[in-house]
Amino acid sequence: MQDLLGKAAIVTGASRGIGAATAKELAGHGVSVILAARDKAAIASLTKEIRDTGGTADYLACDVSRYDDVAAVVTHCMEAFGRLDILVNNAGVIDPIARLTESDPQEWSKVVDINLKGVYYGLRAALPIMEAQGAGVVINISSGAASSALEGWSHYCATKAGVLSLTRCAHEEMRDKGIRVVGLSPGTVATDMQVAIKDSGLNPVSQLDPKVHIPADWPARAVAWLCTTAADHLSGEDFSLRPEESRRLVGLLSD
Ligand code: NAP
Repeated sequence: MQDLLGKAAIVTGASRGIGAATAKELAGHGVSVILAARDKAAIASLTKEIRDTGGTADYLACDVSRYDDVAAVVTHCMEAFGRLDILVNNAGVIDPIARLTESDPQEWSKVVDINLKGVYYGLRAALPIMEAQGAGVVINISSGAASSALEGWSHYCATKAGVLSLTRCAHEEMRDKGIRVVGLSPGTVATDMQVAIKDSGLNPVSQLDPKVHIPADWPARAVAWLCTTAADHLSGEDFSLRPEESRRLVGLLSD
């Protein structure tokens, strides 16, 4: 993880769950981190926690469904740290879970604004800076839902499929510019999102025993690993954390 020392990163959706764990993990490896999410109190408190343990961090409230908010986070990172090496497009929602016939068109559209447009906005704001630097890594937090169909999850499956497509398109345009764009499909993770899924009672994912969910620091450690040169060969596709082989590569399982 020596590669990470001195780098600067933005993590969206850093107020809790996978994003909060990722911000702490990256800061622990010497990365200067900007935490972005709507819950300002939560990101301020996590920033203090990182600083209190010797890390470098700052925060900016941001709704990823607004381009100006996302662009302001990128500007803030450049002003605070003078560079942007890593963007983790993590912010995402699954609520409201509903079958198509019962779904609310406005709520469905809002999920597109956050899960899909939010990732595009991150790419749009960060890639020109990374291009000028001649280096950078973007990690788009994906899901098995990107390539599967689940009852009540049409908004989530469609937006995660769109994110995978964005990962592929960005890779196509950035591959020769020293920039890697890769997805991370974490499997099921013990966060508030899985609580909402369980409460819905719809589809087999809601029936899973919570004990099978991995802790949020596993995908966080996978993000850190994906930012290193050990993962240089991974770009333009989703890296799934489900197979044992992946978990071994990341160092989550010992031999
Ligand atoms: P979570 O605990 O519910 O956290 C979601 C994060 O996204 C929060 O920090 C939330 O912050 C942020 N967020 C939501 N809407 C936002 C907006 N409009 N603007 C900025 N930030 C926003 O869920 P999680 O499990 O950590 O999910 C993180 C990512 O992992 C998501 O992309 C999700 O789809 C993906 N994922 C999760 C699982 C799983 O099993 N948990 C599996 C596969 C993929 P605020 O509310 O403060 O804005």
